[in-house]
Amino acid sequence: MTDFDVDLLVVGAGTTGLTLALQAVDHGARVRIVERRPEEFRPSRAMVMHPRTLELLRPLGVTDALLALGDPSPSVRLHLRSRVVPVSIEHLDLPGTAFPHLLLVRQSDVETVLAAALAERGVAVQRGAEVVRLARLRQGGARAVLRTADGEPDEDVLCRYLAGCDGSASLVRRSVGGFLGGDYDQEVVLADVELGPAGAGSRAVAPVMLETGVAHVVVGRQGLVFLFNIGERATWRMLATRRAGDDRQPFGQPGPPVPQDQLQQLVDEAGLPAQITEVAWSAQVRLQHRIASRFSRGPLFVAGDAAHVHSPAGAQGMNAGIHDAVNLGWKLGFAAAAGSLAARPGSALLDSYALERRPADRAVLRLTHTMYWAEASLHPLAQLGRAVLVPLAAPLLPWLTRQRRLTAVGVRTLSQFRLRYAHSPLSLEVRASLTPVRGGLARRVLRPGSRVADTLVRCQGRRVRLHALLARPGVHILLQADAREVPERMLGPLVHSYRLDDRPGTGMLVVRPDGYVGLRAPVLDEPHLAAWLRLVGLPVR
Ligand SMILES: Cc1cc2nc3c(=O)[nH]c(=O)nc-3n(C[C@H](O)[C@H](O)[C@H](O)COP(=O)(O)OP(=O)(O)OC[C@H]3O[C@@H](n4cnc5c(N)ncnc54)[C@H](O)[C@@H]3O)c2cc1C
Repeated sequence: MTDFDVDLLVVGAGTTGLTLALQAVDHGARVRIVERRPEEFRPSRAMVMHPRTLELLRPLGVTDALLALGDPSPSVRLHLRSRVVPVSIEHLDLPGTAFPHLLLVRQSDVETVLAAALAERGVAVQRGAEVVRLARLRQGGARAVLRTADGEPDEDVLCRYLAGCDGSASLVRRSVGGFLGGDYDQEVVLADVELGPAGAGSRAVAPVMLETGVAHVVVGRQGLVFLFNIGERATWRMLATRRAGDDRQPFGQPGPPVPQDQLQQLVDEAGLPAQITEVAWSAQVRLQHRIASRFSRGPLFVAGDAAHVHSPAGAQGMNAGIHDAVNLGWKLGFAAAAGSLAARPGSALLDSYALERRPADRAVLRLTHTMYWAEASLHPLAQLGRAVLVPLAAPLLPWLTRQRRLTAVGVRTLSQFRLRYAHSPLSLEVRASLTPVRGGLARRVLRPGSRVADTLVRCQGRRVRLHALLARPGVHILLQADAREVPERMLGPLVHSYRLDDRPGTGMLVVRPDGYVGLRAPVLDEPHLAAWLRLVGLPVR
């Protein structure tokens, strides 16, 4: 038997690694998290968090802090040639969630909140520590060689599982599989700037100051230009796309600065009435679209940008990485705590991570690829669409953006509300005959593998939102009003049960720690419940 130093070694403390560490700790794992960067702060790339991501993070107790640091009702001005269309994306028509809005929040703030939550659980991020080599061990587990910045001798870390959350140039991924996809011809320019009124020589369309307190989005022939009022080192954060240069910088990470005249040129070409008066920070970021050929190999896993990289279209990268982390974290936590069959690579529990997340991330990648083509491609058709068709449709836009249901459909799709792990080995339905079947043909809502929506329920004499009940780590067994009690031996610190007094019937629904239905049965069926709990590594006496 190997004596592991730790159950889980998380490599990389970006939003994915921090979320994964939190979720695994809360589900029973001993976790160590290492980060190559010595300093905590780095300029944000992501700026938008989706409602589903907030839901996934809620049981970890971090959403209040995120909401306090972000803007849940961002106002947007869409610039289409001479027309400026106000777009309201607050109070979306999104029933069934406690977060019916997008959250404008800096990635650095998200990292600060997650790291603080982890520290509260007694796990500090070890900064200035880089994994330089790793190997799978024949007897199970992995060995990582850790190099600290201060010239200390390398350290060997023996871990039961190792999760590569080490970004797009992932070292861990090299031991797991290939990276399939391609590079974009364009790059993104990021800058924190101060703006004044448009100066002489600008092709600004109106002699007015750019409205503050709102996000400006320009759809132009050359691509998109965003100006967010939440810069980190100056008032405005600028994000624009342009043709990439020939220099070979690493993908996904902020590269060399961009001269002020080039930034001004992007603002002028967009027709924005603004003069850049100061550049506090700027960087160019090369983009690619790729997905790992495998998400796991034995005790090694990859998640977030290490597993898939996107263009910024649809604001998906950070959100999808958090989805991966919340999915994988509870499985590694349960597996580590079980130390049983469920803990073995090749078990249904651990295999389900790749089986669930790779198709989901591939679908997100396809979506962002299509959106990015329309938003920023230099293909003549895409340019024609942006330069001619979109401005022609401009008169319709104020009406379109007032259609709250339509906007909600878009946000629901982007936010992955419709995602269902239908083909997962953890999605089981027990029919009336008590024969388990995967997936099942039953009612559309609450099918195995589906997200559980946030509805009002009556529980222990109180009216309460379902997600408020589920807002703690662990598995949740929801009983219909007339169902039998869950035997005490099946409950525990990470297995909770609730009776929903206003839901007539004898059935039960087992909700996984990430809020998806695991098992559904028409009665409280002890053998199948025990089998499902064992499947996910939970002890049943
Ligand atoms: C311009 C731009 C705008 C974007 N906007 C959005 C948006 O609005 N919404 C959104 O959801 N996404 C957005 N994204 C994508 C998002 O920024 C990334 O998907 C997200 O940062 C991925 O997080 P991560 O934790 O997986 O990886 P990273 O943030 O890259 O973190 C990886 C960490 O691992 C560390 N590391 C690497 N190798 C090692 C090693 N060997 N040992 C120890 N540590 C190591 C690195 O130092 C780094 O801190 C945007 C991306 C770009 C480029």
